[in-house]
Amino acid sequence: MDLYADPAFAMAAEQFRLIADYLNIDDSMRARMLQPKRSVIVTLPIRRDNGHVETFQGYRVQHHLTMGPTKGGTRFHPGVTLGEVTALAIWMSWKCALTGLPYGGAKGGVTVDTRTLSTRELEAVSRRYMQEMIPFIGERTDVMGPDMGTNEQVMAWFMDTYSINTGFTVPGIVTGKPVSVGGTTGRREATGRGVVYLIERALDLLKMQPDRCTAVIQGFGNVGAVAAQGLAFKDGMKVIGISDHTGAFYRKDGIDIAAAEKWTREHNGVLAGFTEADPISPDDLLTLECDVLVPAALEAVITEKNAARLRCRILAEGANGPTTPAADQILFSRWNEVFVIPDILCNAGGVIVSYFEWVQGLQQMFWTETEVTDRLFRILETAFQAVIKRAKSAKLPHRMAAMAIGVERVLAAKMARGLFP
Ligand code: NAD
Repeated sequence: MDLYADPAFAMAAEQFRLIADYLNIDDSMRARMLQPKRSVIVTLPIRRDNGHVETFQGYRVQHHLTMGPTKGGTRFHPGVTLGEVTALAIWMSWKCALTGLPYGGAKGGVTVDTRTLSTRELEAVSRRYMQEMIPFIGERTDVMGPDMGTNEQVMAWFMDTYSINTGFTVPGIVTGKPVSVGGTTGRREATGRGVVYLIERALDLLKMQPDRCTAVIQGFGNVGAVAAQGLAFKDGMKVIGISDHTGAFYRKDGIDIAAAEKWTREHNGVLAGFTEADPISPDDLLTLECDVLVPAALEAVITEKNAARLRCRILAEGANGPTTPAADQILFSRWNEVFVIPDILCNAGGVIVSYFEWVQGLQQMFWTETEVTDRLFRILETAFQAVIKRAKSAKLPHRMAAMAIGVERVLAAKMARGLFP
């Protein structure tokens, strides 16, 4: 497994080991459940605007194909490694199984800092990545979507490149496309909306009133900004802390989220220099006293160093893998202080609405935004209740309960299909 050596993969493997021990999964099944079915590494030579040719490394990992095609986003980020992409694919598998979607998990990425690319260069990286992946993917084998550093435009380039190769339009090859080329309404907001829905459900269980609560959000991209909007505008919550990779900001009386969004729109998409709140250290942001903390950026930001110091009542994991297993142990010992909504449940809104987009693309029949959102909340509600019920009856931390449900379903499918030949 050295192939996948990476802190994120080590996290995913350790989480799986804990669940496998809890579920008494046979040793012979463990590697079959954890190791990816396929991992593809590609080299992408791109002509830069200055005429030089530069090569970038790209990855696609398909974790398992037992329950249908694989599904997962594509990350463009300087920190992308094979191991990180593999961990993200594994988490996608448990997430899809937990929410009852007919998918295995996948993930892909390119090790690139998109801020150093012109629009033409970004298009070249995107198209070349898709071109190299064509032999390995398909609307019935592996469906791509967006993740950090990619967006609707990148998905449109992916679909166009794939479709040019097949000779006809194939909307089902990617989700998160613009609505004008077969995307679904409500996809861009889906993950953040799901995060907000689940926070509301947790507040309800804890008998807390949203408009009397405070929130802190790390990451102000697709997930973080949409969650901030929902919590502030829909629930009347005071968002006292926000951050992105350029800075963290605090305002005791609540940050004007509309002003923060306007700032990012006018300043290259970043919060740096935001004047309507006070700058604070990114580390201190996470340990601010608040009712709801939403990590919505990178993996492994809640660690054994800060888990004991978190002062939130609800930890809503918008990001994938924000909490390390060591931090999990600490949080479990604080289960009556910190209510964890684990990532594979909390951010599942994205893949659920991606699934809706895929279904609409295959059927060429499109739904209204109300239909999309109603169906999204229904699936999240079922998964939320299942996790709470399992956690209560088996006295498990929420993450273990969520993962146990997901892992059990994949295991049952593998056992039912048997081993070929
Ligand atoms: P994005 O690229 O739109 O935004 C990422 C945000 O995180 C940006 O504001 C960026 O500045 C910030 N960030 C990066 N490094 C940071 C750091 N060190 N400290 C603070 N902020 C930092 O990405 P996104 O789509 O919002 O994804 C965020 C997380 O949510 C990722 O973990 C992703 O895997 C997960 N996720 C996204 C979706 C989706 O539908 N977009 C679905 C499920 C999970």
